[in-house]
Amino acid sequence: MIWCPRCDQGWVTRARVPQESETFLLCYECDTVWADREQDAHPPFLILEEYLARFGLDGLWSNIEILERKPGV
Ligand SMILES: [Zn+2]
Repeated sequence: MIWCPRCDQGWVTRARVPQESETFLLCYECDTVWADREQDAHPPFLILEEYLARFGLDGLWSNIEILERKPGV
């Protein structure tokens, strides 16, 4: 797991939209989303709400599948 390069305040988890094969990285604190293949996220940043809108979903954590747990939780 990596520490968020954008907000520097949270862990980044791997997640995906159920039924979709593509995984993405998501910060627990600032909801920033970026492609799994580029871990050194660059601006412009995408947030979860915008990402899920592509699939016609609301920007809720309950709409995604978390693939990694926070360390120590
Ligand atoms: Zn963050």
